[in-house]
Amino acid sequence: MPAAWESLIHDVPDYPTPGVMFKDITPLLADHDAFAAVVEALAAAGRDADGNVVVDKVVGMEARGFILAAPVALALGAGFVPVRKVGKLPRATHAVNYSLEYGEATLELHTDAIAPGERVLLVDDVLATGGTVAATRELVSRCGGVPHAVAVLMELTFLPGRDAVGELPLHALCQV
Ligand code: AMP
Repeated sequence: MPAAWESLIHDVPDYPTPGVMFKDITPLLADHDAFAAVVEALAAAGRDADGNVVVDKVVGMEARGFILAAPVALALGAGFVPVRKVGKLPRATHAVNYSLEYGEATLELHTDAIAPGERVLLVDDVLATGGTVAATRELVSRCGGVPHAVAVLMELTFLPGRDAVGELPLHALCQV
């Protein structure tokens, strides 16, 4: 049975381009109980079976990943790190080009955002083609970080995003 919050993710056809079914999470974010429930569920990806926190940093991908990853980091007692679109971070960055469901872009990460050996949880709203996750994994690795798992609200299973996650555990709170 779907969780109550799933009905708060609204389908918007043909946005931002024709043929894309956009998953709008803003109604979910506006509902305190739903938002709290998904943050706790995403944070579980950063704990072991005994409930111990096993990550040092939580990375959120611009832009909706920020909204989810920041409270997940607080819930885990971990640091929050933003992965941003090109030109937005003010200091030295690593940069990786990637493909989106609707376009191409470059993501960046401050070179000192993650210390070598730190374990990193990747958090985003939607896993689609997997380009964003693949680029973020590469950025984390360039810093010397160790990707631990990927946690998303929703996996679009008709797209190959799971391939980009590879051997990492994927915590998708729901699938369509
Ligand atoms: P991808 O790199 O193709 O896996 O796309 C994932 C990123 O694009 C995430 O940061 C999502 O926020 C966004 N995205 C891709 N497809 C959708 C969609 N259908 N609805 C909402 N966001 C999407």
